[in-house]
Amino acid sequence: MAKIKTNVNCSPHKHEQNVKASGSTFLDTLELTSDFFKSKSHESLYRTAIAKHNTLTKIYSILDVCENHRKPNYWKTWHCSNVVLQNGTALVTGLCRKRWCNVCARKKTAELIRGYSESLSQLQAEDNCFLVTLTAQTIKSNNAKRLKAEFQLYNKELKRAIDSIRKTHKTPLNGFKKVESTYNPISNEFHPHLHLIIQGEANAKLLVDYWIKQMTKRYGKKKINRGAQSIEKIGNTAKDYIEVFKYATKGSVKDSINAKAEDLMIEAMEGIQVFKPIGKLRKVKKPIEEKDQRLTADFIQPKDEIYIYCNDQKDYIAPNYTPLIGTIDIESKINKESALNRIKTSNINTSKQWEEKQ
Ligand SMILES: [Zn+2]
Repeated sequence: MAKIKTNVNCSPHKHEQNVKASGSTFLDTLELTSDFFKSKSHESLYRTAIAKHNTLTKIYSILDVCENHRKPNYWKTWHCSNVVLQNGTALVTGLCRKRWCNVCARKKTAELIRGYSESLSQLQAEDNCFLVTLTAQTIKSNNAKRLKAEFQLYNKELKRAIDSIRKTHKTPLNGFKKVESTYNPISNEFHPHLHLIIQGEANAKLLVDYWIKQMTKRYGKKKINRGAQSIEKIGNTAKDYIEVFKYATKGSVKDSINAKAEDLMIEAMEGIQVFKPIGKLRKVKKPIEEKDQRLTADFIQPKDEIYIYCNDQKDYIAPNYTPLIGTIDIESKINKESALNRIKTSNINTSKQWEEKQ
């Protein structure tokens, strides 16, 4: 049997499951304003700046190792959201809309959740939904075509399984699919897999059974591990769906080995159908890929201003050197709090050990 996580503590914010699942409610659960931020828009801008910083680190590494013909696209991302224009309290910045850009990936994820949240809520109202992960073998290759062929095969075998279940069991599957790959730098292996939302536990189990049967025929019994497939019950918040709607490739790339692997995964994914609704899941409206990111900032004085991104400060800076966000101060507060928490935890553990010895 497939691994079923019966721990149905599926949402860390259980109370949110009963909240009416409008688009904004879904998005609100993605970011919760904490003490470090003046408002939700302040936090959102901070997260954009951090995503921009991580993207630049990643792009630096990839540009060093990728082939010349691949560089122009990465340079477009280099310039993504470099400038923020303020008009009153309205802020706007341009986007590159590339999959490997962390700033644009956040935007794409929000668009997908907004587009499908209503339909997913309807599915959940009819029957529980499950996060299903399907995989087969790891791939050791330095060739993007090899990994691309595997992605294509996964899409083909998934479609075959869904068609077979509909014909044989008269059960149409409903849900959503995403194709993904991770990379293990120690073994130099890629791990392609599918994340799916599937309505109904019996249907989720059926899909895993068909997947194993089909992939065993293709690769042999030794390569297909039933324990590697999983089924997990999920709730009805953005956090429950994030695994499937998460758009980004790796968040950060720290060395040339990982940069080469990241470039290879990006190349392999080109032209691949990454996202697809299954069955009767419908978008409320087609998610529009906006070219700009717009935000009403309630934490600044209304005026007209231009800010340029400064990577050293992970912030947007005005011509008079005023930071828009105050990222350095926020990070310093966050670091201070986490250091205090570590000390508290360490003190608690020490006193517990002392009590146990008595
Ligand atoms: Zn971008």
